Amino acid sequence: MRQIDHFIAGGTGGLAAARKAPVYDPNSGDVQAEVVLGSQDALDRAVAAAQAAQPAWAATNPQRRARVMFNFKALVEAKMDELALMLSIEHGKVIADAKGDIQRGLEVVEFCCGIPHALKGEYTQGAGPGIDVYSMRQPLGIGAGITPFNFPAMIPLWMGAVAMATGNAFILKPSERDPSLPVRLAELWLEAGLPEGIFQVVHGDKEMVDAILDHPAISAVSFVGSSDIAHYVYNRGVAAGKRVQAMGGAKNHGIVMPDADLDQVVNDLAGAAFGSAGERCMALPVVVPVGDDTAERLKAKLIPAIEALKIGISTDPEAHYGPVVTAQHKANIERWIQTCVDEGGELVVDGRGFTLQGHENGFFVGPTLFDRVTPGMSSYHNEIFGPVLQMVRAKDFEEALSLPSKHQYGNGVAIFTRNGHAAREFAARVNVGMVGINVPIPVPVAYHTFGGWKRSAFGDTNQHGMEGVKFWTKVKTVTARWPDGSPDGGNAFVIPTMG
Ligand code: NAD
Repeated sequence: MRQIDHFIAGGTGGLAAARKAPVYDPNSGDVQAEVVLGSQDALDRAVAAAQAAQPAWAATNPQRRARVMFNFKALVEAKMDELALMLSIEHGKVIADAKGDIQRGLEVVEFCCGIPHALKGEYTQGAGPGIDVYSMRQPLGIGAGITPFNFPAMIPLWMGAVAMATGNAFILKPSERDPSLPVRLAELWLEAGLPEGIFQVVHGDKEMVDAILDHPAISAVSFVGSSDIAHYVYNRGVAAGKRVQAMGGAKNHGIVMPDADLDQVVNDLAGAAFGSAGERCMALPVVVPVGDDTAERLKAKLIPAIEALKIGISTDPEAHYGPVVTAQHKANIERWIQTCVDEGGELVVDGRGFTLQGHENGFFVGPTLFDRVTPGMSSYHNEIFGPVLQMVRAKDFEEALSLPSKHQYGNGVAIFTRNGHAAREFAARVNVGMVGINVPIPVPVAYHTFGGWKRSAFGDTNQHGMEGVKFWTKVKTVTARWPDGSPDGGNAFVIPTMG
């Protein structure tokens, strides 16, 4: 059985692990590898390597650090096919989508190619007589990232690229369900010229997460995963005196106004609700048509579109989506479908019991559509994270606006309309962090920032863009006076003011 090891101080191996976890091929249902589940000793080794390497990396001028980013980008682009395949056969997302996962991460690396510009501080000449004030952004030292299974390339790069470009060492604890690609990225960072010890990977579960949260030498933790764990990570990390950003789950709504182009909406919804088997924090698992007439017209178009979806193994170029990540997750999704039925949801298309010929043990779930879901249902309140679309009918714009606004999650939301005024009102008033206007999956580009509201994110700083630079650095402000030697007659015992 292939073993997936930590990547510490420039290499894998060298540490025996008492515990291991299976890594599946979700297409076949077989175990294809085992990942080591590390503990304190592995983390201590990684921290020691990071401590040895980080001061010199921080002292490397930012243009040189940026050149490593350029090299890494070129390497990943050259190996895109190999990397996408590796990702696809552990996660289950189709190859084209796996390339998108890698590409979205690379776009953060591209942002980091301009890190010298982003790190320029502020400067005020003559803030007082002979006094200049300037600020500089300095790295925190060692940062850690704890990432979910659903974007094994993009999310480690959201965090790691910015952390490293700003001069930190970064220790990644990837999901134990698809850990191969993160290790491959570590090898490529080294090949790109990154010093050993600056990007390391430690594998594990709660034990490793707790070791990271409690480690006194780790200054900051960036987490992405489900909300209860995000909240836990946030509390424990902050209690240990760390800077923490912790992104959680989601239940994004797509509002469909009566004037929307429904063919466009159905096309967008099919991809946003069912793409990647719904395992995206920016998926659109709730659609809110405004008015019964809109609901009926939308449903009539959605049903054939859903029935035309092709589910296949993740390497099938014709497949719209592949299997979900584990048998356990498949069972969970099917339980939520039953719960929604029990709660009174109208099951329009049932994806349970789907099997793919020749791959009967793969973790496939067929696309599922519910109508007449209501806000009181637990299957609406909670994240299902599968290929399940729930339709919640709203009588008017105000009711449609209130649904995502009142939901426990506030990651993303979309409105489909031709009415600019309605779209503008919606964007201004909705209580959600990322808004799409006729854009179903409004993941902001790398030089803007990513982050939800409410239980979708704990902490106050978003991922990547200038918010990422802010998260991974601390600001130092210098007030400098160069006296000319003449007595200034000031009173040193009174707080200096600009009065
Ligand atoms: P998860 O919460 O199960 O795991 C995330 C990380 O936490 C993993 O590295 C895992 O090893 C670790 N972990 C698991 N159990 C733990 C525990 N008890 N204590 C401490 N750490 C633990 O999430 P997942 O299933 O891998 O990913 C899917 C979730 O991530 C969904 O809820 C999805 O919405 C969310 N997500 C959110 C965003 C966002 O930006 N808001 C992006 C992607 C995914």
